[in-house]
Amino acid sequence: MPDGMDVFKDLSKDMKRITVAIDGYSSCGKSTMAKELARYAGYVYVDTGAMYRAVALYAMERGIITREGIDEVRLAEVMPEIDITFAVQADGSQHTVLNGEDVEGRIRSLEVADGASRVSTIGFVRRALVERQQAMGREKGIVMDGRDIGTVVFPDAELKVFATATAEVRAERRCRELEEKGTPMPYEEVLANVRERDWRDSHRAESPLRRAEDARLLDNSTLTKEEQSAVLRQWFDETVNRG
Ligand code: C5P
Repeated sequence: MPDGMDVFKDLSKDMKRITVAIDGYSSCGKSTMAKELARYAGYVYVDTGAMYRAVALYAMERGIITREGIDEVRLAEVMPEIDITFAVQADGSQHTVLNGEDVEGRIRSLEVADGASRVSTIGFVRRALVERQQAMGREKGIVMDGRDIGTVVFPDAELKVFATATAEVRAERRCRELEEKGTPMPYEEVLANVRERDWRDSHRAESPLRRAEDARLLDNSTLTKEEQSAVLRQWFDETVNRG
């Protein structure tokens, strides 16, 4: 290796690796910002919402979650059978893999989102997933997004971000995404769904969604993706260079 390259190698070895926790309401672009920051930093990205969705899908397919309710005894029994991993695709995107099967397409429906919001209120489900998330972040160099990352999963994360946008802006974005996927839904219905999930996320007894005291607030209601990226990158650089 030429001399100059040695310097780079040593620098990268010394560079501080941190944990980035991104929390916030549903459909406020958390995963877009988390993915973008992970790419910028060369870090691993973990979408914890996808893990709750995978649990919901598994339980829905077995009749454990129905419109009437959740059979918590059976859910507790099957939790150890649920293996969730992420597979990086050729284009750099990530797909959620449930017991070896790529379920990325199926977990993104509104029905599964609703199931995820319901299973996420159950203490033993949260504890099992939090334990897996903490194991994934043991080596740092990770960007994780969810609802309780800065408060419960990584309370010591060096950079915490709390993302938000008005319910109306989030419902509009969600409508556009559903339309692009070929599964359009009326705006009023999507808005009601956004509000219901907000309420459930912030009122549940187990790890309710709240901003950690040391989290930086990022309201992206009126920010373009580029503006948002610039803010995040600046926060990240400041945090890495601080210590
Ligand atoms: O972020 P996403 O919409 O994919 O999350 C699906 C559901 O999982 C949310 O409505 C929320 O209730 C739940 N969730 C959670 N804690 C997390 C991530 C997601 O309770 N860390």
